[in-house]
This record gives sequence, C-alpha cells and structure tokens, in this order.
Amino acid sequence: MQSNHGIEIESINPGSLAEKSGLLPGDILLSINSYKLRDPIDFMFYSADDNLEIEIKRGGKIITAHLTRKDSREFGINFKPFKVMTCKNNCIFCFVKQLPKGLRKELYIKDEDYRLSFLYGNYLTLSNLSKEDRRRIIEQRLSPLYISVHSTNKALRNRLLGNAKASDILKDLKFFTDHKIRFNLQIVLCPEYNDGKELRQTLSNLYRFYPYVLSIAVVPIGLTMYRKHNIRPVEKGDAENALNIIDIFQKRFIKKHGNPIVYGADELYLKAEHPYPPLRAYGDLHQIENGVGMLPLFMNQVKKLKLPKGLQRKKKFITFTGLSFYPFLKRFTERLSERENLHIDAAPVENTFFGSSITVAGLLTGRDVIKTILDRIEGHEMILIPDVVLNEENKFLDNISIQNVEEALGIPTQKIKSTPEGLLKGIVEDR
Ligand code: SF4
Repeated sequence: MQSNHGIEIESINPGSLAEKSGLLPGDILLSINSYKLRDPIDFMFYSADDNLEIEIKRGGKIITAHLTRKDSREFGINFKPFKVMTCKNNCIFCFVKQLPKGLRKELYIKDEDYRLSFLYGNYLTLSNLSKEDRRRIIEQRLSPLYISVHSTNKALRNRLLGNAKASDILKDLKFFTDHKIRFNLQIVLCPEYNDGKELRQTLSNLYRFYPYVLSIAVVPIGLTMYRKHNIRPVEKGDAENALNIIDIFQKRFIKKHGNPIVYGADELYLKAEHPYPPLRAYGDLHQIENGVGMLPLFMNQVKKLKLPKGLQRKKKFITFTGLSFYPFLKRFTERLSERENLHIDAAPVENTFFGSSITVAGLLTGRDVIKTILDRIEGHEMILIPDVVLNEENKFLDNISIQNVEEALGIPTQKIKSTPEGLLKGIVEDR
C-alpha cells in the first residue's frame, strides 16, 4: 500500500521505457522534477516533460533516476491501487447498502473519489470534496468528471443523499463551469421523489451549464430485495412519464444547440416498452457504461457484423444474459442459427440473488447462472461467459469463479467480450 508521499509500482510492461530506465516493481516513486507524487494522476500530470528526474525509494534507500522520453510517450508502469476516498452520504437508494453479506469485498466500498471519476467514470456527489481537491481538479484539469445530481432542489437532493450537509449542486456546477471543467451528469430516477415536475425543474436548471455539461443520463433506481427504505421501483407508467419529459427537453436542446444533452437509460425504454432511439441519437455515447445506448450499440454492431473465419458449426454452445437483454440476444442467436447454421443457445438468467427486479446482466451471480444453465446444459459442449459478469480475477459478484462453473456443470467455459463480435470469436476454432 502506498503512503501519501509516494506511489508504488506494481508491475512494468516488458520492453517499456520504464523497464529500459531500470525501474522495478516495488519501487516507490516519491517525486518527479521535485514535485511530490500522491497518486498516478500526479505522475501523469508531472511526467509530461521530456527530461525527468525521479526520486525513488528502493529497499529503504533513496535513489534518483534520470529519464529521457524521446519518442516514447508511454512509460509502461502499472501502479498499485491507491486508497480511495469514501462517501459521507447515506442515499436512500444506495446499492452498497442493499447488498447481502458474502459478496466480493470491494463491492462494500462506498467510493466517492474525484480521481476515480476522472480516471474511470465513477460517479460522485461532490459532498466530500475539500478546497484542496477543488484546487487540484482545476490545476490538473481533471475533466470530464461524472457527477450524480439526482435533483437541483437542495432540500430534496439532501434527502435523497441522506446528508443534510451536502453542498448546493448548482453552486458546485457553476464553480466547475467557471473554471471550464466539463462534466457528465446522472439523475437516478426515484418514483415520487425526483420525477414529474421535479425532474422537469432539474433538467431546466442543468441546461444552463451547456457546453460544460456534456450529457445528462436519467437512470431508473436499482432496488434489490435487501433494501430497507420504503421506496418503490420504476414501473411502466413512471418510465413513460420520464421518457416524455426527456423527449421534450431533447427537442428543446436540439433546437437550441443541435445536441440532445439529456438521455434516458436503455432500461427506461424497456420498462416503458418503447422502442429505443437509433444509435445516432446518442451522440458521443458519453454514458454508455451507465447503460445509456448499450442496446442500440449492440444492435448496430449486429448489423455491421462480419463473420470471422474458422467458426465451429458442428458444436453446440450456450451463453446467457439478464432478463432485460435476453430478447435481443435471443433474436441475434436465432438469426445466426437460421442464416449461418451456427448453434449458440441463449439462456435468460433470473436474478434470484438480488431479487427479480434486477434484470441487468452485470449483476448476475455465479449461483444463478449455474442454476439456469444446469437445466439446459444437455447437448452443449461449451459455455460462453460474457465478460460483464466477471471481475479481473474471473469471478462473479458472489465470488464464484469460472473454474467453479466448469466444475459444477462439467463442461468447459470460454470468457467472451459482451459484443456480437465477441460472441462469434468465442466459437472460432483454435483461437
Ligand atoms: S453516494 Fe450514495 S449511492 Fe453512492 S456510495 Fe455514497 S451512499 Fe451509496
């Protein structure tokens, strides 16, 4: 674990500038050109010069390395994860608080860290941001940030966040706009809290931050059966109402700026049973990781798909997904069967672990997958596991590994990218 005064190297890419310069895994980088390093963002920021003097702590000794970047822009250093800042809220819809015991340890961390927001698109409410953090965001241009707004009505927002001391989001966004920091915003739609006229008012208030507001996503609240708050899920009528409001604002924004700015999550269209817009309506797909535009992207990729060579037509494969995406995956695999003589069965996995209102693939657990596939396994020779359900160690949310699945079901598995191309690559012979 690194301290406040240095960042530890976890690994170095072979042949990289870092390797050629003699840096080693375990080295703690203390400063670059006399600038102290707190985390990898400092490293990115201060290592832009061509000539670098790096102070290193190695085995208790302090040494200095001189690096010349020349043509090489990439250092090839992978740092140990830094200690993340955690949140001071108690949101009524907090997913962490709705988790049962026994899941992967990292899932219980209530992270709220502007550095993760900049690096990986994690959302933050800004309620734990110090003056120093703000200064750093401006100085190092940590933009765009991903910010949870939920409502611009301060009293309502504080209620949703469970934090009476949360700052005024409109003032915060004005501060970042004044300093030319861009942001993507999300509103977690909670029926009877921030919907209807509150949603209209929020969108109207956020609109004024254009062009610094790149996108606003409206996503339905996710509720597991372990929730303690008395709050209900988004139903069909709620989704329809939200989409109507989004549509009004999209038209207004397009007329004024040629950009819809506000988008409904795919799940809202599914709940409302509305056709989702074409891919081109999603602009730069700023919030694809937030489930905004994933479906149209997938269907668009299906249309443009080129079949790779070496596809195995004699074997039968099986894959799976959550209930919401299942009809789309099924349509695709049936088409492959009819037109291309490829045999991939798609199985819909009901989420009994978190409760049936959780229908996305990314929250499926290993035990639900095993249970579903077990009933359909006969005749299949391999299970194709989409990467969205696994972490870097190839484990599901409930710590079940790929090997556990193989042992339980008695056939080999293949991890695949969660795209049409990824599915087909999974059935290529001698990959
Ligand atoms: S900001 Fe809210 S939803 Fe996010 S971790 Fe904190 S309490 Fe949970």
